[in-house]
This record gives sequence, structure tokens and C-alpha cells, in this order.
Amino acid sequence: ATPTAITVGIGRMSEYGILIKNGESLQNACNIDTAIFDKTGTLTEGNLKIEDVYLNPNSNIDYEELITIISSLEKNSTHPIAKTITKKAKELNLNLKNIDNFENIVGLGLKGTINGEIVRVGSKKLFTYEKIAINEDILNKYLEFTSNGKTTLILSIGDEIKGIIALMDKIKSDSKNTIDLLKSMNIETYMITGDNEKTAENVARTVGIDNVVSEVLPNEKLDKVIAIQNNDQKKVMFVGDGINDAPAISQADVGVAIGSGTDIAMESGDIVLIKGNLQSVVGAIQFSKKVMKRIK
Ligand code: ADP
Ligand code: MG
Repeated sequence: ATPTAITVGIGRMSEYGILIKNGESLQNACNIDTAIFDKTGTLTEGNLKIEDVYLNPNSNIDYEELITIISSLEKNSTHPIAKTITKKAKELNLNLKNIDNFENIVGLGLKGTINGEIVRVGSKKLFTYEKIAINEDILNKYLEFTSNGKTTLILSIGDEIKGIIALMDKIKSDSKNTIDLLKSMNIETYMITGDNEKTAENVARTVGIDNVVSEVLPNEKLDKVIAIQNNDQKKVMFVGDGINDAPAISQADVGVAIGSGTDIAMESGDIVLIKGNLQSVVGAIQFSKKVMKRIK
């Protein structure tokens, strides 16, 4: 039977927008010594703004066409990137194209066909994976945008790179404070993201996270949690919002989902932060310590 203190505790936490789905996770939260965070939508607001666009001068695409094609793919995606691009297409009143054979290559990007021609949008890694060459001119722009901390996407039609688009996200106002508090509790902090190394380091530095793992695929997020649990004998909390975070959230000793995130992340979480307020993570740990002391 669940001790009364836990039941009462769960009820109290829900008043603060912290939904605890099982008593076991509240019991585990007091022993956490490692906290791993996803980046986009977890440490950042996931509310990206288009900041730069670069069109391949050797191709005849224009800005509106670039947004039209990317948005046609993105209308099938739940990623925060998708919200930004489809909103822009709506603002510009663009007519989206019909996509056949749509594929979400999770952690890399999207792919489909328009009138029989393959179109792709995603990270540089997607194009390595799909064996499409990126010329030096485009590569230099990609490096320039990512060094400034921007999530940068490449669009190709057929085998030709048509252009790139750089999106900027805002770090949540309580991210740094949350990390500071965790570190003061001797909890080791990690950020793990599918985004590129430069953008990842930029965010990690700003919020004070010590360990950064970037350019990972979704199964590698899971593998990292398992490795820290087994090799380092750590008790891990994982905080995320995306489809790609769900396996890691399930595996963690305490899985935390951001309430504004995808349904699958919320289903996988032991704890859901309804208000998307990151500092609730610290609240949950402190509360767990209090409740468990009362039980012992
Ligand atoms: P994160 O771990 O930061 O949430 P993801 O693993 O979801 O990131 O994605 C990693 C990278 O894959 C993104 O930075 C982007 O380059 C690419 N990507 C993922 N989803 C999409 C999408 N819907 N459209 C374009 N690119 C995407
Ligand atoms: Mg995310």
C-alpha cells in the first residue's frame, strides 16, 4: 500500500502544476544524483524565430518557394521547428504543396516527394546520412549560423541543396536558476540534444550545464541514460518534451515530461510539469526528500 504521506504529497504537488503519476517516482526523486536535460523545448522555449536565410546562388529558388517547400514537409511534424515554419507560411499566405511518401527521420529531419521529386529538410547530418553533397559555400554559411547558436536547417530538392534557414530559440527564464540549484544539491548536470555541437555548446554555456552530448539520434539518448545508470552507477532524472525523448524518459529512474510537449513524452513521464516551468524539477526533488524523511 502507498503510505499516506506519499498520497498526500502527490496531491499537494499537483497544486503546483507538478503531476506525479506514480508513488515510486516520488520515492526515487530524493535519490537522484544526475539530471539530464533535452535542449529544444526543455531548456529553451521551443518557440523559434527565423533569423537568417541563405539561398544557393546557383539555384533559382526564392525565399517564398523555400518556405513553401519546407512548410509543406513540416505540416506533418510535431517538432517545435515545424510550428515556426508553418506559421511563417501562413503569414505569407503561401499555398503548400502536396507531399507523397512522407518520412520523419527522427532526430535528423524530414523527407518526402513533390511531383515525384525527393525533397529533404534537416540538419547537416541528415545529408551525410542521405549521401547528398553540401558544397563549401553552403557549408560555410551553415557553420556561421550554428556558431551563433542557431538551429540551422538545409533544404534539398533532388540532389541539389537549395538553401539554408537559421532559427533562434530563447532560453527559458528559469533554466539557469534550475541548473544552479541542482548543482548546489550536488547533482551532476547533462544536456543531450540532436541539434548540432555549436548550438548545443552555446546553450549549455549560458545555463551552466557541465556535460554536453550533441548530434545524437533518439536511440542514443536512451543509450546514454543506460550507460550512466550502469557504468557510473548513477540515479538518473531525464527531462524532455519530444517524441525523441520518450525512450530516455521511460528508462530514467525518474522521467520528467514538459507539459507543453508531445503526447508520447507525457505518456512516458513519471512526472509531468503541467506549467512547463523547469524549476519545478527542483521542487519535486526537494518535496520527495521531505516526504521520504517523514516515512522513515
Ligand atoms: P532536440 O534533441 O534538440 O529536441 P531533435 O533530436 O528533435 O532535437 O532534432 C535534432 C535535429 O534534427 C534538429 O536540430 C534539426 O536539425 C533536425 N530536425 C528534427 N526534426 C526536424 C523537423 N521537423 N524539421 C527539420 N529538421 C528537423
Ligand atoms: Mg526537445
